[in-house]
Amino acid sequence: MTKRQQETINELRNESKELRRILMKIKQAVKCPYCLSIVSIRHGKRYTKKGIIQRYECLACHRKFMIREDSFRMRHDSKIINKAVELYEKGYSTREITNKLNENISHVTVSRWIRDFKTLPMEAQRIK
Ligand SMILES: [Zn+2]
Repeated sequence: MTKRQQETINELRNESKELRRILMKIKQAVKCPYCLSIVSIRHGKRYTKKGIIQRYECLACHRKFMIREDSFRMRHDSKIINKAVELYEKGYSTREITNKLNENISHVTVSRWIRDFKTLPMEAQRIK
């Protein structure tokens, strides 16, 4: 492999990391139930018997809505997800990744992360 090819691969890898980070942010974003805008801000918390309720204000339509914390929050750390995707891009199978992560995560979950977050273009791997 030439130096230029190696540089191209590194560039693509960095770009795909950045894309993955943005993608995660979007997936974690809270949608307004009225206008479906994802531009909302946190607007205080309420503690109830059923758990924590997070209040939001939509910046598009200015309506307020509530979401139970546990129902929307991503259950797994983005670090673990990144690690899983990186292992996949190195050529490990989802079952191998599941074993390596050792985090009590099912391989179905790992497969879903890879489907949702893998962004490295296949061409970059073929140059090798
Ligand atoms: Zn709205």
